[in-house]
Amino acid sequence: MTAIKNDRAAWLKAGNATCSHPPLRAPAKAWRLILLGAPGVGKGTQADLLHERLGACHLSTGDVFRAAKTLPDGQRSPAMDCALDFMRRGDLVPDQTVLDMVSERLRCLHCCGGFLLDGFPRTVVQAEALEKLMQREEVAMTAVLNYELPMEEIVARISGRRTCSQCKAVYHVVSRPSRTEGVCDSCGGKLFQREDDRPESVRVRMAAYEKSTRPLIKFYQERGLLVPIIAGGTPEETFQRTLVALNGVLTD
Ligand code: AMP
Repeated sequence: MTAIKNDRAAWLKAGNATCSHPPLRAPAKAWRLILLGAPGVGKGTQADLLHERLGACHLSTGDVFRAAKTLPDGQRSPAMDCALDFMRRGDLVPDQTVLDMVSERLRCLHCCGGFLLDGFPRTVVQAEALEKLMQREEVAMTAVLNYELPMEEIVARISGRRTCSQCKAVYHVVSRPSRTEGVCDSCGGKLFQREDDRPESVRVRMAAYEKSTRPLIKFYQERGLLVPIIAGGTPEETFQRTLVALNGVLTD
C-alpha cells in the first residue's frame, strides 16, 4: 500500500487540528511501533519509509518541539519555551513536559491507521507512563524496533544530515542527497542543518542517550517487544531489514 503523505496536523498542532489525509478506514493490519536508537541512527528516515509502506503516521516528539519553535513569540506556553531551551542545548526535555504534550495528543494513539513513535519514549519514566496510558486506553503496541549502529558512524551521519524547513523530509549530503543541493525533492522547501545537529549539541545528546535511553532496550526486551535491526548501509537496505523483521513479528 502507498499512503498519501499526511501533514500530521493532529500530532504537530494538537487541539482541534485535523490531518489533511487521515486514514479513512483501518488497514488489514494497523501497526503500532516504537522506533528506538541513538540520535542520528536514521529513525526519522525509516519512519518516513514505513509510513509510505504501512500507512501508519510518523509521530516524532522532536518534530512537535521544532514546530513550536517556529510559532511567533507569545504563542508558546512558558512550559514550551522552557522545553526549547533544553532542546537547544541538546539536553532531554523534562519528562513531565513531554508526557503532558503526549497526553494532549491521545487521539493519535487511537488512530485506526496505527502509529510510528520516533523519539518517544526516551527515558524509563516515559516508557512506564506510556505503558500505563496504553493499558488505560486499551491500545496494544505491536513491537519496538531497535536500530543499532557503531557510534562513529552515527556521528558521521548526523554531521551530514539536512532537514526540509517545510515538510521535514530528511536528507544526507553523501548517502541521501536531494536532486538539487539545498532544495527538498518533495516540496521544494529549503534544506537546513538542525541547531541540535551541531557538534557541541551532538555530544550532549549522545551522553543523554547513553544515560537515559539505552536502558529502554532492556525494558522492552523484558516485555518481549524488542526487535533488533542493524542500521548499517543505505536507508533502503535498513528498510528491507526492517520489513523482514516485521514479517517475523507477524509470524511469531
Ligand atoms: P529528536 O528529533 O527526536 O532527536 O529530538 C530533538 C530534541 O527534542 C532532543 O534532543 C530533546 O531535546 C527533545 N526531545 C524530543 N523528544 C523527547 C523526549 N521524548 N524526551 C525528552 N526530550 C525530547
